[in-house]
Amino acid sequence: MASNMFSIECPHCGRSAVKDDYYKTDERYILCLKCGYNYTRTIKSSTANSLEYTEEEYVGYGVFILVHRDGSSKSMMLNDALTAEKLEEYKRTYMDDHVDQEKSYLVSYENGIFTILLGNPPENFHLPFKEFREKMIAKYGELEYDFMVPLG
Ligand SMILES: [Zn+2]
Repeated sequence: MASNMFSIECPHCGRSAVKDDYYKTDERYILCLKCGYNYTRTIKSSTANSLEYTEEEYVGYGVFILVHRDGSSKSMMLNDALTAEKLEEYKRTYMDDHVDQEKSYLVSYENGIFTILLGNPPENFHLPFKEFREKMIAKYGELEYDFMVPLG
């Protein structure tokens, strides 16, 4: 399906989020791998004359990015505040032999504050959207369309 993927300012944390826009069907996905914000708008039902959409939104309490030694990776958005129990579970997962601890990280986001709990997020992680956008322009050149900021 035809879609445009680009970076936008995350409505929740103000860093760069990914927007996936299906312009033909007007469906869209927004995913922030910084704070865990996620939004989907998908077609629920359609008839010849009307389209009905379903919207789902989670504000995000952080992300857990797991990179395995074989190169595969897994991104988890935290849809709830992190509990002590969950944190222990994530710590155990993080310490697993198959996990590349250098590249994996757990960051919580609560009350507008990022807290790095495990690992080291990459440099781009920390950039406010405006700075991220400038960095992308420096890397790829001027944007063809103002809203189409590359993913990174
Ligand atoms: Zn965000």
